[in-house]
Amino acid sequence: MAAFSRNAKPIHYEAELVAVGEVMAAGQYGHGDITERFERAVAEFLGAPDVVAVSSGTMALHIALTAAGIGPGDEVVVPSMTFCATVQAIVASGARPRFAEVDPATMCMGAAQVMDAITPATRAVVPVLYGGRAVPLDTIFQELSDRGVVVVEDAAHAFGSFHGGVRVGAAGAVTCFSFGPIKNLTCGQGGGIVPRNPEEAGRARRMRLVGMVERADQRANSTSYRVERPGVRGHMSQINAAIGLVQLPRFTTVEPQRKALWRSYAAALNDLAEVVLVDVDVEHSVPSLCAVRVPDRDRVFETMRKRRIGVGVHYPPNHLQPAFSSWYCALPVTEQVAEEVMTLPFHHDMTEQDVRVVVSALKETLR
Ligand SMILES: *Cc1c(COP(=O)(O)O)cnc(C)c1O
Repeated sequence: MAAFSRNAKPIHYEAELVAVGEVMAAGQYGHGDITERFERAVAEFLGAPDVVAVSSGTMALHIALTAAGIGPGDEVVVPSMTFCATVQAIVASGARPRFAEVDPATMCMGAAQVMDAITPATRAVVPVLYGGRAVPLDTIFQELSDRGVVVVEDAAHAFGSFHGGVRVGAAGAVTCFSFGPIKNLTCGQGGGIVPRNPEEAGRARRMRLVGMVERADQRANSTSYRVERPGVRGHMSQINAAIGLVQLPRFTTVEPQRKALWRSYAAALNDLAEVVLVDVDVEHSVPSLCAVRVPDRDRVFETMRKRRIGVGVHYPPNHLQPAFSSWYCALPVTEQVAEEVMTLPFHHDMTEQDVRVVVSALKETLR
């Protein structure tokens, strides 16, 4: 199958097979030392004091919101333009989503969109780092914190990207990553939380292990254990952590590959007047998507798919989904861009030649 026929895919380096084999041979599949090694390696890479590894990006958001004190009765501002998991995590925490608009140029909810959506009931804001782009809410950070509003970033797309001079996750907000199959860094399946302080980290660590306070080695020598707060089965398996530990050192090559791929698309799309490229700020980002806005998107999508080009749509808006209808509000900008957005095949197995194939197919389709 041609590389450009997949919208996204994981790449492995063989060493994962050995690492996973070792975990399986040892017979310790649950949370353990390898998971904790992965946590320390990611924290060191990001320049963050701590990282809590969990079973998915969705779980990272759910646990991070709860550990930050968000729950029933609270309102959480979130862009409608995101993967449904962001909203499901808010709902799972017991809070209610309040949908916000995005800036069509970046597909991100910036400071202006946050301030338009916020109400006295708002207790958290969840910016989504669409395509890998950091969302600087610095100008309103003080105001949010005066209002008692916590920022929990959905950085599922943005592993490795920079916020100012530091990596996303090292800039002070609670940050959630996904290490799912097609993300910038993969564990096969997994997620990570950067907490703001040791207390928040402790709450997240207990919650991911169904609320239990003691470590596995302590429980093994005891006839009881203690459960103080609600919990979920949300730990990261050592099988997944072992994959992540092999992938992480390779990220130094993934980072320039993904930037170069995005820049190739930007150059090749330059002479397609009808196509608007969604800007990821490639200088500071490790791109996760190459999103464009095109006229007559549904026809273009179908024609490209027939030509076996792996186009996608990120995302159908959440405020129009049946599951979230109780929180519906009209969002004209989001509704407009949602009809135009299409993502081009994007993964670090693609070559310049693949980009040329995709862009010339797009050119012919638009003619
Ligand atoms: C992938 C993704 C998630 C969820 O991560 P999982 O690891 O799949 O649970 C959340 N938000 C966004 C924007 C994502 O792309």
